[in-house]
Amino acid sequence: MVIKPYQEPPLLELLRCLNQRFELPNDERQQYINLEKGQQGEQKFSELLENLTNDCLILHGLLLKCNNTLFQIDTLHIFENMIYLVDVKYYEGDYYVNSGNWYTLSKKEIHNPVLQLNRCVSLFRRLLQKYGANLPVEGYVLFNHPEFTLYHADPELPIILPNQINRFMKQLHGIPSKTNDQHMRLAQKLLSDHKDESPYTHLPEYSYEQVKKGIVCASCHSLSTSLIGSRVICNGCGREEKVDNAILRSIKEFMLLFPDRKITTNTIQEWCRVIKSRNTIRRILGKHFTIKGHGNYAYYVNSDQRDDE
Ligand SMILES: [Zn+2]
Repeated sequence: MVIKPYQEPPLLELLRCLNQRFELPNDERQQYINLEKGQQGEQKFSELLENLTNDCLILHGLLLKCNNTLFQIDTLHIFENMIYLVDVKYYEGDYYVNSGNWYTLSKKEIHNPVLQLNRCVSLFRRLLQKYGANLPVEGYVLFNHPEFTLYHADPELPIILPNQINRFMKQLHGIPSKTNDQHMRLAQKLLSDHKDESPYTHLPEYSYEQVKKGIVCASCHSLSTSLIGSRVICNGCGREEKVDNAILRSIKEFMLLFPDRKITTNTIQEWCRVIKSRNTIRRILGKHFTIKGHGNYAYYVNSDQRDDE
C-alpha cells in the first residue's frame, strides 16, 4: 500500500518554470538538470512498485531530521519484519570504482552514492530507535537508467544495477509480510515528521523585470508563440493550444514565480505579452479566480482563498 506517493519536487517545478524565462546561473542550472534526471528515475521506480502485491507500506520522498541533521529518503518499504530503504540514481553512462571512490570514465570523481546511502541508513536507524521501533533496515542504491554501466564494482556493494532490477523486484515480491497497526503507526509517524522545505530558499535571485514575458509553448518550451484567432501557436514546433488553456497555464507560472505579486488584468496581459485583448484576460481571470477590490484596485486570488481576509 502506498502511504506517501511519489510527487515531483516543488523546487523542480519552479526551476523548470524559471529556466524557460531566465538564464540560470551555472550551479542552479546543474541543480535543475540533476533534479530533472532524479525525477525521471524516481518516477520510473515508483511505477515499477505499483506492481508489488504483497503487504508492505511504501513511502516516497521523505525529508527527515535526526540529531539535527536533515536526510532524504527516496523510497521506504515497511514490511512486517524489515524495512528496505532504496536510493534511486538515474545516472547515465559509464562509471568505475577505484579504491572505494567513484569516477566517471573521464576520471571525474563523483559523490560516492554508497557512502551517501550508508549515512542515510545510519541516521534512519537512529530515528527508528528514538521511535522505539526495532525493525532491521537494509539499504540499496538502485541505478535504473538503462544505459548505466559500472566497472570494477565489488559484488558485495549494496547496489542494484539496471540488469538486476527484475531480480530485485522478485526479491521484494517474495518477502512474506503481514503489516499491522504498529507498522501503520510507524508510517504515520514518519509522515508527520516529514519536513516540507520551502523551494524558494534554493532559487537564484531573480526579479520580475529580469524574467522574459510571453506564453511558453507547452511542448518545446519556446517563448516564440503567437495568437492566431482563438489559438496560441508555437512558431518553433507548431503546437496549437486553446487561448484559455495557454493563458491559464501562464497565470499559474506567474503565481509560482512571483507568489507575492498581485494578479491583475494589466499584470497578466503584460506577462502573456501576445494577448492584445484585455477582455480575454479579464474573462479568464473572472472564470478561474475570485476578484477582490474594485476598479483600478481590483486583483484576483485563487478561488479557494476566498475567505482569507
Ligand atoms: Zn513549441
